[in-house]
Amino acid sequence: MSTMNLSNGLYINGQWRAGSERLQVINPSTEQPLAIVAGGDGQDVEQAVRAAQAGFRVWSACSGAERAVVLRKIATGVAARRERLMQLQSSNNGKPQFEAVIDVDDVIATFEYYAGLAESLDAAQDADVPLPSDDFSARLRREPCGVVGLIVPWNFPMVTTAWKLAPALAAGCSVVLKPSEVTPLPELELAAIIADSGLPDGVFNLVCGTGLAVGAPLAADPRVAKISFTGSNAVGVQVMQRAAESIKGVSLELGGKSSLLVLADADLDLAVELACGGGFFNAGQMCSATSRVLVAEELADEFLLRLKTRAEAIRVADPFAAEVDMGALVNQAQYQRVLGHIQAGLSVGAKLVCGGGRPPALPRGYFIEPTIFTQVPLDSALWCEEIFGPVLCVRSFASEQEAVDLANDSAFGLVASVVSGCTERAERVANELQAGLVWINAPQVIFPQAAWGGYKQSSIGRELGPWGLQAFQEIKHVIRAR
Ligand code: NAD
Repeated sequence: MSTMNLSNGLYINGQWRAGSERLQVINPSTEQPLAIVAGGDGQDVEQAVRAAQAGFRVWSACSGAERAVVLRKIATGVAARRERLMQLQSSNNGKPQFEAVIDVDDVIATFEYYAGLAESLDAAQDADVPLPSDDFSARLRREPCGVVGLIVPWNFPMVTTAWKLAPALAAGCSVVLKPSEVTPLPELELAAIIADSGLPDGVFNLVCGTGLAVGAPLAADPRVAKISFTGSNAVGVQVMQRAAESIKGVSLELGGKSSLLVLADADLDLAVELACGGGFFNAGQMCSATSRVLVAEELADEFLLRLKTRAEAIRVADPFAAEVDMGALVNQAQYQRVLGHIQAGLSVGAKLVCGGGRPPALPRGYFIEPTIFTQVPLDSALWCEEIFGPVLCVRSFASEQEAVDLANDSAFGLVASVVSGCTERAERVANELQAGLVWINAPQVIFPQAAWGGYKQSSIGRELGPWGLQAFQEIKHVIRAR
């Protein structure tokens, strides 16, 4: 594929535009340039927010049913361009096609779900609120909070966008979206679909660009009512600090260091499959990666043997290859970061079970073998920090309580998985875990109806479900003397 020159990386007030910056986009499987995308700056953010203010007046006055029509049109448009979106996901992000299709389906399901919620808003608006008084009546209105800024990462481009954009539009907000500068290509294609969906000008605005040039001024802009951010904790802190200057609301979806608990009565084959899925899907570049695998000590030897065999059978390859289970990491920085974590783990005495570097058959591209460690010191970075790569740390436990304590001993609390042959026991353990989502004997399935987000430093707020919509609404009570 030759390098694309996408001079229009900005969509403001219904117009595609060029920007002052040039973002080089790489194919991580080949290390070759894929595209040059125009990026914006603070002035573009200023214009996008101004356009969004005008767009808000129009969009917020539409009924939920009218908004639902547009959301459904976006879902239909995404379905119609499925192949193209999959191709861009794989070439820009490095994920295999079978993963890219999951992302596209998720985007469609999210827009359809929020179309339904938008429709339900009309009947619920101005609901009576019972008061303990005959002298007053009250009604409740949920109103869109205003212009919102959406800042998203590179690991699930389009998906993290849809989880914010669909509820924001359903609520009646207007939007300025800043995609990751690493993966703008699928986001630009999605934006083109949205641009054709019949939204009034100014309701949806997109400014590609770097975090400092675009994300920072967007977070600081006092006309922006709310920032919804997904990304690293370090940047989440900066976004919060900037947002604090104008007391704007923030929703944050940040990092994780999640555990998969294999209880003594677990089906070992299932546990191995779930450990590989939780550790190696998207080459481990998931905030929800269950990178700590805790296994009952009576199962530990057999489990590790089977896990190693299974991990070594994972076919790491170009995302478009016919036989591929795992693709490339997103860019050189991420590749070096993960290799650095592996080296640091070795230097503190962690024992490498398999993997640990580049697959010998792949001299090019940011590929790393599925990697498993045991004997990882509890105070090491490998155990405590988010690796964001295909690296699992396996540790045995002697009791259910020890497993729960190990899982909860983290600054994060995004998700957890439990594998057990006993439903009652698994449910009890799930209740003990400090995590926003717990899967029992299940892969990491996500439904738009169920909340996404975590405890502790993983999140502020929840996405998806009605909670995702409420994040973009203000509550107004009108109390009247009878
Ligand atoms: P990142 O924090 O580097 O960047 C995220 C976004 O913020 C990008 O668009 C970036 O350009 C922008 N940004 C950077 N500096 C900024 C600044 N000063 N002000 C405003 N915006 C700025 O994250 P990443 O490397 O793109 O993504 C990986 C991280 O995202 C991981 O830590 C992962 O755990 C997290 N993540 C979390 C979830 C979740 O749902 N909890 C989902 C996906 C990814």
